[in-house]
Amino acid sequence: MERRDKVYEGKAKILYNTDDADLAIQYFKDDATAFDATKRGTIASKGICNNKISSVIFKVMEDKGIPTHFVKELDDRSMLVKKVEIIPVEVTLRNITAGGMCRLLGIEEGIILDLPVLEYHYKDDALHDPLFNEYHIFALKIATKEEMDKIADLSFKINQIMIDFFSKRNLDLVDFKLEFGRYKKDILLADEISPDTCRLWEKGTKKKMDKDRFRRDLGDVEAAYQEVLKRVLTVV
Ligand code: 5GP
Repeated sequence: MERRDKVYEGKAKILYNTDDADLAIQYFKDDATAFDATKRGTIASKGICNNKISSVIFKVMEDKGIPTHFVKELDDRSMLVKKVEIIPVEVTLRNITAGGMCRLLGIEEGIILDLPVLEYHYKDDALHDPLFNEYHIFALKIATKEEMDKIADLSFKINQIMIDFFSKRNLDLVDFKLEFGRYKKDILLADEISPDTCRLWEKGTKKKMDKDRFRRDLGDVEAAYQEVLKRVLTVV
């Protein structure tokens, strides 16, 4: 599949058109940003790790009946995807408190939640991705009730699949962010699932194995991504 013109360049990925109007190429960069892109850097080989980790996870999702935009891995840094219309809602699922939830509610990190917490954030850089709810989503006509019901249902299912997947690899899934898109008559899981978009803590030691190592200058960022990739590729 040939890469054509650039559709969109984001902070961590580039989307290219292909000669098929229904398909696009998602290319993973090594660039990393945090705190509303006020912190910038690169993480060597991050693009390769995230492409491979996302590819494996999308395949697992498809096997479990979750529809995704993933078609196939093309090379080290690229995957072929269905060209969806991204719904500008960042869906966050939390199993253990961290990050934004601790700041929002003034609670400590690491509390295990009895029930997963589902949050929606408006995907809008200029507004700093504010927390919002379904009523805001309907008021802004971002998505319909039927679409949001589908997205919530898929998100809880994805959470359980991911908890089990990472648990077998000795990692606790703390939280993660998902994006969905419209494709023909369907809603598909889109974007990526990687240590850029998930918090993963090593069981027992609680060592952070994700982008928090970059955000908080904890060191060994590349090694953490490589280790997650190694565990993801481990057949269990
Ligand atoms: P928080 O709301 O605590 O900052 O983030 C919750 C989870 O969603 C974390 O795993 C975080 O990595 C992910 N997340 C939230 N917003 C974004 C975003 O804009 N970009 C990326 N890559 N991940 C995000």
